[in-house]
Amino acid sequence: MSSIDTNMYDSFCWNISNRCNMTCKFCFRELNEKELPLEDNLAILNRIYNEGLGGYPIKKITFAGGEPLGYYGIKPLIKAAHDLGFSCSIVTNGYLLNEDNMDEILPYLDQITFSCDSTSTYYNEQIGREDIDYQLEGSGIDSSKHLFDIIPKIREKYDENQLKININTLILKDENSKYQNLDNVGKDIYSRLLNYKIAKWKLLRFYALRGAAITNKNIFEVPDEDFKKIQEYYNRLSSNYLNVSIRDYEDIDNNLIVSPNGLLKKSENGVEHVYDDLKVYPTKGGGRHV
Ligand code: SF4
Repeated sequence: MSSIDTNMYDSFCWNISNRCNMTCKFCFRELNEKELPLEDNLAILNRIYNEGLGGYPIKKITFAGGEPLGYYGIKPLIKAAHDLGFSCSIVTNGYLLNEDNMDEILPYLDQITFSCDSTSTYYNEQIGREDIDYQLEGSGIDSSKHLFDIIPKIREKYDENQLKININTLILKDENSKYQNLDNVGKDIYSRLLNYKIAKWKLLRFYALRGAAITNKNIFEVPDEDFKKIQEYYNRLSSNYLNVSIRDYEDIDNNLIVSPNGLLKKSENGVEHVYDDLKVYPTKGGGRHV
């Protein structure tokens, strides 16, 4: 893909929807695009299967968002990708996944990554990572507890050879300039989740790339010297049981992205560039939610 850079790509991240059931104040989801109808996304999938992306054959697709499980066509889309031979994974906050629907999704995935920035109710409230109903009415799901409910249920049915389970945590400075979110998640992964064969804990540096993340950059941005210390500290936690990796801006820039409206994008130094429009049919965009 020489028009983008000299990296070789065999995977991409498909930000299938820009909607979410949460209101994280640090979120860098794309706010200005509407998601496409399922038939348009299936056509894009077939195009990528036949042509690759930028000339490179693609082996792996990571479905993300917004919240990908909120997209009305996510189940048939993942199944279609799986049936074409792609290795499929999803990055989700997990709140729309439950015992009733997991068997419609998980058999088609090789990997599921739960984004979890804190396991503290208080901290999640501070950063806006709460289910909207829970915030408004106190009903719905307490985000700090959901992971501990759903992961054991997944593992009862899908062992680590069938499905890898990962945790993603954003490194972000809170309003009190502390990073306690990391320790909370780390302790809970080690003390409560490792039994369920968590494969990888990925820490990603807050990146003011789009949307609310740009608006709230001054609150959450992590200074270089702090990031270096965090990197050194958490790298030491990697072990035989858990692969801990720390991702800086450049690592995030190295991802190929397909946006909700079918645009091929890549970021560089905080700016996203559009390289192609993958839509096969003329469309105005705007799928629907259920
Ligand atoms: S960070 Fe994730 S969970 Fe939070 S609002 Fe954005 S997409 Fe939703």
